[in-house]
Amino acid sequence: MKLAILKERRPGEARVAASPDSVKRLVALGFTVAVEADAGRSAAMPDDAYATAGATIVADRATLLADADVVLKVQRPTHGTDGTVDELSAMRRGTVLVGMLAPYAEPDLLRLYAERGIDAFAMELLPRITRAQTMDVLSSQANLAGYRAVLEAAHVYGKAFPMMMTAAGTVAAARVFVMGAGVAGLQAIATARRLGAIVTATDVRPAAKEQVESLGAKFVAVEDEEFKQAETAAGYAKEMSAAYRAKQAELVAQHIAKQDIVITTALIPGRPAPKLITAEMVAAMKPGAVVVDLAVEQGGNCAGSRPDEIAVTDGGVSIVGWTNTASRIAVDASQLYARNLVAFLTPLVDKASGTLKIDTADEIVKATLLTRGGAIVHPAFAGQGG
Ligand code: NAD
Repeated sequence: MKLAILKERRPGEARVAASPDSVKRLVALGFTVAVEADAGRSAAMPDDAYATAGATIVADRATLLADADVVLKVQRPTHGTDGTVDELSAMRRGTVLVGMLAPYAEPDLLRLYAERGIDAFAMELLPRITRAQTMDVLSSQANLAGYRAVLEAAHVYGKAFPMMMTAAGTVAAARVFVMGAGVAGLQAIATARRLGAIVTATDVRPAAKEQVESLGAKFVAVEDEEFKQAETAAGYAKEMSAAYRAKQAELVAQHIAKQDIVITTALIPGRPAPKLITAEMVAAMKPGAVVVDLAVEQGGNCAGSRPDEIAVTDGGVSIVGWTNTASRIAVDASQLYARNLVAFLTPLVDKASGTLKIDTADEIVKATLLTRGGAIVHPAFAGQGG
């Protein structure tokens, strides 16, 4: 089985889908691994480290792809129609493609995978079940993004996080409010606490309350009947009613005016991010306050956040809108992502025949497989052609 690692070509992507460590593990699973030259350069993983781990380095992308049974990617492949090089059509029929394929962001691409006979797995659709924990790319990347979001805020904020008592006077501790206490939010809370901030957090899922409090932060939320039912069976947040959102907005408006830093991480799978901070709320914040909107790519949680910009309001509030925050910590993000992919591939490898055996009845396969044998097979996208 030949496995190829491509260099990522989408703008702002510094991660890579394999590390020298994961290459060793892939070789042990029976794969012949080829890595595109310079694939790991932006994640401090040089070609010779991959070669030492057992990979062949291939300079020509087309040669690499023409030969591959399995292709590992971080982001969905480029396909020429978006003005970039065409990675997709260089893949041969029957190729198994594994990556964070963002099917909701570009659903048309599923038709192309199907037309070209590619069996595509979208890693972000993994079910949040115990067996899939080691494969969970959303968790590994969100965890690092939550950490990094606090550092981005600290970088832009003109004051200190911890309280400092000095001979020249006392520096007050920063007040940090984290909105959305999932994987990214919980890590943001922990990081802000380690830096010495006074931390509060909110979420619509009741289970988040105990987790927030266990990290030493105060939970702030409208805890009504709807809140008690706000978690889906899959552990995700439901979209809340207009009435709940109005009550939540009132509470947030009062709280946010006293905050120095706000980190927003709230997402609803497959839906635009909920708008949690209005322009009026931003206007009520203190000059010098900083908002980091981790949901900016899904439309943003904060009014005025703009992708890949720091927007500064007339009132002196900075709204940081970096997309792909995990890529800003590309070395660790790549290491963990690469390990997630090895964990995902391991149960698919049939050691006896030396091939991939895709069991379409398996819960993890069913949740992640977008296309197979020329058709769109994922229940959320089937019926869209192919
Ligand atoms: P996510 O990225 O989908 O959303 C981030 C957070 O925003 C969530 O906590 C969500 O409840 C919250 N949110 C949504 N709408 C909101 C609103 N209007 N106001 C405030 N907050 C709002 O979430 P995630 O980090 O991927 O975590 C989703 C769930 O999966 C959690 O229950 C988490 O504990 C669980 N999880 C389970 C496993 C596992 O068992 N393998 C692994 C990781 C996460």
